[in-house]
Amino acid sequence: MKHFPVFLSVSGQHIALSGGGEAAVAKLRLLLKTEASLTVFAANAVPEIHSWAAQGKLTLINRPLQSGDLTNEVLFYAADEDDAEDARTSAIARDAGVLANIVDNLQDSQFITPAIVDRDPVTVAIGTEGAAPVLARAIKADLEERLSPNLGMLARVGKSFRKAAEALPWGRARRTFWADYYFKSGPRVETKGEVAAEQALDELLFSHLAAETSQGHVAFVGAGPGDPELLTLKARKALDTADVVIYDRLVAPEILELARREAQLIDAGKTPFGQQTPQEVINELIVTHAQKGHQVVRLKSGDPTVFGRLDEELDACAAAGVASHVVPGITAASAAVASIGQSLTKRGRNSGVRFLTGHDVAGFADHDWRDLAKPGQVAAIYMGKKAARFIQGRLIMHDADPATPVTVVENASRANQRVIASTIATLPTDLADADLAGPALTFVGLTPRAATATLTKFQQQELA
Ligand code: SAH
Repeated sequence: MKHFPVFLSVSGQHIALSGGGEAAVAKLRLLLKTEASLTVFAANAVPEIHSWAAQGKLTLINRPLQSGDLTNEVLFYAADEDDAEDARTSAIARDAGVLANIVDNLQDSQFITPAIVDRDPVTVAIGTEGAAPVLARAIKADLEERLSPNLGMLARVGKSFRKAAEALPWGRARRTFWADYYFKSGPRVETKGEVAAEQALDELLFSHLAAETSQGHVAFVGAGPGDPELLTLKARKALDTADVVIYDRLVAPEILELARREAQLIDAGKTPFGQQTPQEVINELIVTHAQKGHQVVRLKSGDPTVFGRLDEELDACAAAGVASHVVPGITAASAAVASIGQSLTKRGRNSGVRFLTGHDVAGFADHDWRDLAKPGQVAAIYMGKKAARFIQGRLIMHDADPATPVTVVENASRANQRVIASTIATLPTDLADADLAGPALTFVGLTPRAATATLTKFQQQELA
């Protein structure tokens, strides 16, 4: 590219031209479309230039350009159609530091004027660096035909509407709105003028806003183990924008408080072995609210993908054609293991870890207890409080060492967190003594590393 196309700001700037014949008139026609102030130097200007001067459209100086005439011009055109005169005037411009164009002399010009398709404020500039003027004209003719003569008006009206269109969320919603205006509703009214275009924009915005808000959505959000600081930023954003929050029993009240003030909070708590909200009812609750056009947050404790019956709820959304997505959270095992200063896996001890449930819908859950009973195995057991005796029985049955450590963390990450260090042999009695009331995570094969057990900032604040 020998010439780099730019759009020069000329509003309120000065442009000068030397010449008073046909070439000058042709350039002036183009320049008169700009907001620049024009000065023409010509001893014998044709009547058309005189008449523009009389109308105040340009300033005509009835003599040839002299050095000292150019001071603060941004552009200069040498349009005398006389090689010697053009060389003289363009030298004056160059000496004054003004960019000069010599009409029909690409070689000695500092800039060239492209072929222009003008739908102000939409402007298309076409240049071939002098290689193929015919091609430039053909492209221009093609575009002139393709772009409606009213495109400029549509763009002007559109520009003054940009602020109003910010009512739509940035991104896809706004892009679709503008595409609809420029390619559909705008062209339909463009011959009726600006007022009709403004009206079309108003109506279009109204219908896009309505469509935007009627698109319900479900976010399955992990609320983490309880400490609000263990929420992800994505979870916070989802809570900030939710219309409806459907939450589980284990979701901490401190986290519910982060929901948007206007949000409707619905308790879908399920108490194990107690009064339960049937899963079908929860599925229906989620779907119905989304179908009303609400932004629904289905808030689940920990991570939604761990023992959360997430698939049933996802399937219900899919079956109803409701869009959804999953926001992961910190699962109870991660929070609990952090609180005892241990790691879930350890070189030389266990290269895998199991997340198990103590009971499922059918009762106590069965697992590969034989494998688990081997030394060094680690398992994180969810919903295991009531299953202590069952777990003990199965492990002993498969020859586990009764002295194998078992650690129970109640209310992990919360102010009332408790850690009960036990063994397979004493688990049921230790748990009975502890009289656990909150959710508890049982680790088989891990013992608390007392010295490094730490409290989260939230726990310290609550205890202070
Ligand atoms: N989706 C959740 C688990 C739901 S099942 C998660 O990823 O954590 C419910 C079980 O999780 C409880 O019975 C308990 O075993 C465990 N749990 C949840 N929150 C807990 C907490 N703060 N401390 C200890 N265990 C917790």
